Amino acid sequence: MSSYFHYRDNRLYAEQVPLADIAARFGTPCYVYSRAVLTDSFHRFTEALQGREHLICYAVKANSNLAILNIFARLGAGFDIVSGGELQRVLAAGGDARKVVFSGVGKSVAEMLMALDAGILCFNVESAAELDRLNDVAESMGKIAPVSLRVNPDVDPKTHPYISTGLKQNKFGVAYDEAIALYRKARNLSHLRITGVACHIGSQLTEPGPFIAAAEKILLLADALAAEGMPLEHIDLGGGLGIRYRDETPPEIADYVAALLGVLRGHSEKLILEPGRILVGNAGVLLTRVEYLKHGEEKNFAIVDAAMNDLMRPALYDAFHEILPVEREINAPPLPNPPPLGGEGAIEKSNSSIFEIVGPICETGDFIGHARSMAIAPQALLAVLSAGAYGMSMSSNYNTRPRAAEVIVDGNNMHLVRERETVRQLYAGEKLIS
Ligand SMILES: *Cc1c(COP(=O)(O)O)cnc(C)c1O
Repeated sequence: MSSYFHYRDNRLYAEQVPLADIAARFGTPCYVYSRAVLTDSFHRFTEALQGREHLICYAVKANSNLAILNIFARLGAGFDIVSGGELQRVLAAGGDARKVVFSGVGKSVAEMLMALDAGILCFNVESAAELDRLNDVAESMGKIAPVSLRVNPDVDPKTHPYISTGLKQNKFGVAYDEAIALYRKARNLSHLRITGVACHIGSQLTEPGPFIAAAEKILLLADALAAEGMPLEHIDLGGGLGIRYRDETPPEIADYVAALLGVLRGHSEKLILEPGRILVGNAGVLLTRVEYLKHGEEKNFAIVDAAMNDLMRPALYDAFHEILPVEREINAPPLPNPPPLGGEGAIEKSNSSIFEIVGPICETGDFIGHARSMAIAPQALLAVLSAGAYGMSMSSNYNTRPRAAEVIVDGNNMHLVRERETVRQLYAGEKLIS
């Protein structure tokens, strides 16, 4: 977790704003993001890439709030999108279509039309059939579509199987051994223009090795293409850099970029990266209030007002999110294992116990955290950390729960960047039959 979230006088702050003030003003559950963390993480990329022609295409699916997209757009970011809806968000947020790369295995004709009309930088094409369809759509519009092939380098990213994408058995990308033949095919299609190559091997990677192995294979391919008279303008090495949720030790952005630049030595193509989680994950927390404390026969439960519909990662991947009290008790002894935070790490221990932190949804999988040793007062506010990526963007309305509000803190200021949904909005498109 970033130092922009910190305790002061035993109250948890986002930058200069107490999280309790945000809960009082906007209610819970509520996502809270720090603008400084968003900006800092982006600048780490641009600093590490100084002197190299590059484009950072923020992966919109990690967190697609318009205000966040707008912050990145103003910093000069491009965007990696996976749907027509994400393209509309990028444009609505002031993003530049000419800096957009379009990934995804299932692009529809309507999405291709929209992206060609907007004039995006590149389609990252994932199959032979998609090449044909894109060529037809471009021809129908009298346009030439810029394409990269998303190549599957068959590298094991050593991450959770649901977020591993670069193995032979995954649905993503074209097989490495078939890539050259597909580039030849693309060259012969009249309304395509080959501009680059792309890969993305998975998410939440915590070691540099798989990134380096994938980059090496992609560069070999780029060399082979150049030798066949198909020199590339850019090389897109995807996203996937992991963050610290608990005790992971992912590479620093600077070290990750330096490792990639090492592999790219002698290559002058523009470097595109598609980071998502690393830019937003530790920029956000999910604020939630305890509704009930329930002491079961075997377990204690803290039933909170956030649930798996708000933050799906624990239910979906068995993911761990640190959970901290928004107000700590004063003069308490320090925890044996203080959380990765500034401050003196003092959570009241004497009346603490082990809690299952669960939501109100009718599913046993509806949990936010298992077996957390902490003191929890009735009605307490809790902050679920590292919730900026794949939190709000994966949320749903299951159990007819309106989705959470979203707030960005900027120094002393808090900005509501998405209102809490109303139940009426949820059923607005539904009709009765006679
Ligand atoms: C999801 C995705 C990303 C971003 O992944 P992170 O792990 O969030 O960095 C980048 N590129 C593609 C093609 C993706 O699908």
